Amino acid sequence: MNLINKLFNKPKVDCPRCLGKGNVDWDDIKRLGQELKWLPGECAYCNATGKVTSEMLSKISVDNMYLTTDITQDERQKLINNDSDALERAAYYEMEVNGFIKQVEYLYFNANLNLGTIVEFYLINKTELEISPSEKEKFIDYIERIIEHKKTKYN
Ligand SMILES: [Zn+2]
Repeated sequence: MNLINKLFNKPKVDCPRCLGKGNVDWDDIKRLGQELKWLPGECAYCNATGKVTSEMLSKISVDNMYLTTDITQDERQKLINNDSDALERAAYYEMEVNGFIKQVEYLYFNANLNLGTIVEFYLINKTELEISPSEKEKFIDYIERIIEHKKTKYN
């Protein structure tokens, strides 16, 4: 390998998030403990290529919750480069999601509200124009998963 190859074709390893498949499935999500944070889809860690450099591995953790295909390529690069604003947005996002999960757990397990009431509570201000039936279905499914996840965790 000559110098140019060394510089531009950095050795790559199988992506530890998707195990080289290029997309993340439920098995990967469970293995990384992100059941309530991610959905299956293209892998944002390796950009769906299945391969990453060792440099990437040292820069950002494989289970970084914020690093998904929901963020732009620009934001992804900032995050990998430890840009302070991007890190702040990542921390805020993580706090929001964890806070929401805790709220749902509280409403169900402490306040003894049922699934339907919890859904109604969160959608109380939403008109049918703001949330489509399919979005509503996904939301109900998510609330249900939060409840089931906690049940299986403590039983
Ligand atoms: Zn990957």
